[in-house]
Amino acid sequence: MAQADAKRLLARPVIFLGPPGAGKGTQAKLVATHYGVPHLSTGDMLRENVQFGTALGALAKPIMERGELVPDDLILRMVQERIARADCARGFVFDGFPRTLAQAEALDAILEKQKSGPAAVIYFKVPEEILMRRMTGRRTCKIGFEIYNIYDRPPKVEGRCDVDGGELIQRPDDRPEVIRERVVAYRTQTEPLVAYYRGRQTLDEIDASASVTAVTNAVFSALGRLECRI
Ligand code: ADP
Ligand code: AMP
Repeated sequence: MAQADAKRLLARPVIFLGPPGAGKGTQAKLVATHYGVPHLSTGDMLRENVQFGTALGALAKPIMERGELVPDDLILRMVQERIARADCARGFVFDGFPRTLAQAEALDAILEKQKSGPAAVIYFKVPEEILMRRMTGRRTCKIGFEIYNIYDRPPKVEGRCDVDGGELIQRPDDRPEVIRERVVAYRTQTEPLVAYYRGRQTLDEIDASASVTAVTNAVFSALGRLECRI
């Protein structure tokens, strides 16, 4: 059974890799909850820093608003602090990290030092025309960062989160002109990671253009396949 096989694998880090809007956050929340491990979204961590007005938030805000990537050293410090916490001892799901070759190499070194074994990488493949609809329609809860889509996954009550009633907002970087920059950043800086992890045989790919339920099943199957391989 793919889900049972995957259970053991979650004792190690899992990376959801793919373009912005591919559905990584949606699936990471479901899978992390299923296994009782933390969902680590570097985008959410940065947005929290912006919201709380930290020094990191002040540095990151204009970069995120332009659709560019935040410098590696800032991201790596933030991630290292997060995965050192006790709740990460039994695995975690990364969403939106690593995003550059330097981040991937630094993560390899951290995991080697921790003796946690290589991360299992799931690559979310989605055609570009679907990404635009997913990102322009995305709405996010201000409180718990729950993810909706006005076209495909609307909340029960317009503008309110089903989980905690929080206000749903549109991310400032989900405007078409910023989306275009983010896709360029993905193609030039992040997509090379597919070949990097494929070369290590720690990557499995899924068709992420299907329904949320179908994609969740594909993720569990991919985790099962990776469990047999790495
Ligand atoms: P990412 O974390 O990869 O940027 P999200 O998980 O935030 O992507 O999803 C982007 C948007 O697409 C959200 O509005 C979400 O509700 C929607 N979405 C996610 N997965 C699917 C799917 N399989 N089918 C249709 N819409 C989806
Ligand atoms: P996301 O929520 O994953 O779509 O990320 C939103 C924005 O946060 C990105 O467009 C980047 O500006 C920044 N960001 C998130 N994760 C990273 C990362 N690993 N490296 C660099 N920048 C990041």
